[in-house]
Amino acid sequence: MGRLFLISLEGKIYSCKHCQTHLALADNIVSKAFHCRHGKAYLFSKVVNVTVGIKEERLMMTGMHTVSDIFCVGCGSIVGWKYEAAYDKAQKYKEGKFILERFKVSGPDGSHYWVTHDTHMGGSDVDDANES
Ligand SMILES: [Zn+2]
Repeated sequence: MGRLFLISLEGKIYSCKHCQTHLALADNIVSKAFHCRHGKAYLFSKVVNVTVGIKEERLMMTGMHTVSDIFCVGCGSIVGWKYEAAYDKAQKYKEGKFILERFKVSGPDGSHYWVTHDTHMGGSDVDDANES
């Protein structure tokens, strides 16, 4: 294990639900319209204090992607994933960006998002125009 350097963010911070490690800023949100298996997920252009796991091919609703799970450096829990590569041209904008699963992080006001049972299942990352 190396030494643990934690980056502190200032502003509207999304942090790990378990250990409050800072993960991302609201300013870095690209889209809030993503879904994961557990509900809402946000696409960020930049995320800090995470370790990136092994790359793997994953078939999503929008096509095949190369992704890596990302883990909180504070507690090691999975907080989302990184898009390493997209095969579909229309999905290329996601490359190098990060998904944080909303229920795994605390919002800027300390709010938690709880899993609801009305979200559809299936690991979709489709943009959803009907966001409430
Ligand atoms: Zn953590």
